[in-house]
Amino acid sequence: MLRPFMLAVALVAAGCGPKHSLTAAVKQFEEQTGVDVHVTGTFGEPLPPVANGVELGVVDRKLARRELPLLSDVLMAYPTSVRHDMIGNLYLVGKLRIEDVPFLGLAHPRQGRFELALHPQTDREELARTMHHEIGHLFEAEEPYRTSGFRDVSAGSYVGRAPVKHWKDSARIEWLNAGFVTPYASKNAGEDFSEIAGLAWMHPDRARDLAKRFPTLAAKLDMLTDIYQRTAPDIVLPWTGAGWSKWQQEHGGEAVDPAS
Ligand SMILES: [Zn+2]
Repeated sequence: MLRPFMLAVALVAAGCGPKHSLTAAVKQFEEQTGVDVHVTGTFGEPLPPVANGVELGVVDRKLARRELPLLSDVLMAYPTSVRHDMIGNLYLVGKLRIEDVPFLGLAHPRQGRFELALHPQTDREELARTMHHEIGHLFEAEEPYRTSGFRDVSAGSYVGRAPVKHWKDSARIEWLNAGFVTPYASKNAGEDFSEIAGLAWMHPDRARDLAKRFPTLAAKLDMLTDIYQRTAPDIVLPWTGAGWSKWQQEHGGEAVDPAS
């Protein structure tokens, strides 16, 4: 009787091992962040309902398992009030296409949730920056953003659909001069806000440097700071105040020369 029993144990272990560690990772993620993470296609988690033109696919569970600690680290940069009251739900998906164009993330500010697409080829910097970008969109639903006048700074300069195509023959200096940190930022005010947020969270030194050189970007970064601080008074922003001091200590040699 021993052999069949051993075989059964081996099969159970092979079948449930990865699932088990994913279960543990999800539990740890949720306990730490206070955000419900939905590993779509696993644990009976369906894909979230989406608008017309949006196509989602379930996530690869191994990728979800691998990236959960990184996603948790990103979320923990935000205070409890943001994680609990504004974010709420994070859906991990595989495919994410909007009108047949692949996207890395999609936020639903009024529902306090966002989708994040995990692909084997996505690097961790891109993933973390996308998280900050999508969380940026959640700030748009809050009163400090709506009343800030952020939308007025570059009103008239937004190019609407196909912003990346719009700048494809342009040098970087051209979109910077127009007040945009990336070509995508010129799509509309919401994307502009989230693109600055993604840059400032990931590379506060670069964001500060750009603000010194481009007055429109300085105005927008100041507004972004004010909006984040008014929405979440206990937030620590890596590009200003104590957050900037801490960031400099941790990244000593990497900061750019402010004069450059
Ligand atoms: Zn966006």
